[in-house]
This record gives sequence, structure tokens and C-alpha cells, in this order.
Amino acid sequence: LDYRRAQFLLSAVRPEQLPADRGDEVAFAGRSNAGKSSALNAITDQKQLARVSKTPGRTQQINVFPLTDEANGARLIDLPGYGYARAPASVREHWQRILPQYLESRQSLRGLVLIMDIRHPLGPLDEQMLTWCEAAGLPVHVLLSKADKLGRGRAGNTLKAVRRGTQAICPLATAQLFSSQTRHGVDDARRQLDQWFGA
Ligand code: GDP
Repeated sequence: LDYRRAQFLLSAVRPEQLPADRGDEVAFAGRSNAGKSSALNAITDQKQLARVSKTPGRTQQINVFPLTDEANGARLIDLPGYGYARAPASVREHWQRILPQYLESRQSLRGLVLIMDIRHPLGPLDEQMLTWCEAAGLPVHVLLSKADKLGRGRAGNTLKAVRRGTQAICPLATAQLFSSQTRHGVDDARRQLDQWFGA
């Protein structure tokens, strides 16, 4: 698929505001500041599709980016970043309720891309996300983002450790190194999306 064709459609704070549950979608999740917006921008080759924030945790909406004009086409879904300490408790509780519900009930959801900063991987909220995906029977692919921040040896060792930790919760999960800065791993990430979209 041509991910460069992604366009912003809408922002939702409740699942009812999402587009009709038809076609195929892949969701992106991660701790706030993990590099999710940058990963979406790298994969779609657009500078500002998802905003890259200097203030982490600002995005508390589900953003929808269709790749085509058809309602039953492919969509990328940008889930709100989690773990932002300064988010109000009411907002955190809202998403603690909405996210597992979305992962569990969304028929068109084909897989979840979980973004983790390679320097801070597999935190408790990442593990919770993996637990929800496993319960929902949802395939997971981990992008170890900002891989440019570590040397090759350390990045490779972290990848192996994260694969083990992730597969302890989701046995079929996959993981790769990723950098939106060097674009390392962008093609591999697109291949995973293609596979989920059946393209
Ligand atoms: P989000 O909150 O998960 O959407 O994270 P952002 O995409 O806004 O990125 C958070 C911070 O990490 C920003 O300052 C980015 O410039 C930086 N960042 C994101 N991806 C990379 C990367 O691949 N390499 C490096 N060095 N920095 C990155």
C-alpha cells in the first residue's frame, strides 16, 4: 500500500465517534514521548501528519488516517499516548476503560503497532497493553524507536531482550529496530502493515 497517501480524517474521544467498523485498520500505541507521532510521520513520509509534540501527552484523542477515500479501505489509527504523569486522573481513567474496549470489540482492527523508546522499553503500561492485545487475540508488532540513540551492539541486545519479554505475554508478537531520524526500519514496518492489510 502507499502509506504516503494517508490523510487526517477525524479525532475521536469515544469509540462511537470512530468511522464505521468496516474495512481494515491498524492501530499505533505507546507511552507518550515514545516516538509514535514521529513513527507515523516516517511511515507515511509526511512531516506533520501526526504532530510531534515538545509537550508529551498532549494528544488525548484517537486520530484516524485513511489511506484511501473509500469507507471500507485501509486506515491507520493513532491511539492516545499513555503514561503521561501530568494527565488528569479522569483522563487516564477514561482511556484505561476505552482502550481495552476498543482492542477487544473493533472488528476491523487487524493489528497493533506498539512503539517503545529503545532506552525505556517494556514498562508496566506497555505490558498492560500487551496483556489486553493477547486477551483480544490481536497481533502485535513492536517498533523499538529511537534506535539511533544506541550503538548497534546494544540495540541488538535490547531487541533480543524485548522480544523475549514481549513474547512472554504475546507469544506471536514480533519486534524490530526503528528510527524516524535515520529511517532505519521504515520499510520493514511498512511490510508488516502490508501483511496485516492483506496487500
Ligand atoms: P510521541 O509522544 O510518542 O508521539 O513522540 P514524538 O514522536 O512526539 O517524539 C518524542 C520526542 O522524541 C521528540 O522530541 C522527537 O523528536 C524524538 N524522537 C522521535 N523519534 C525519534 C528517533 O527515531 N530518533 C531520535 N533521536 N529522536 C526521536
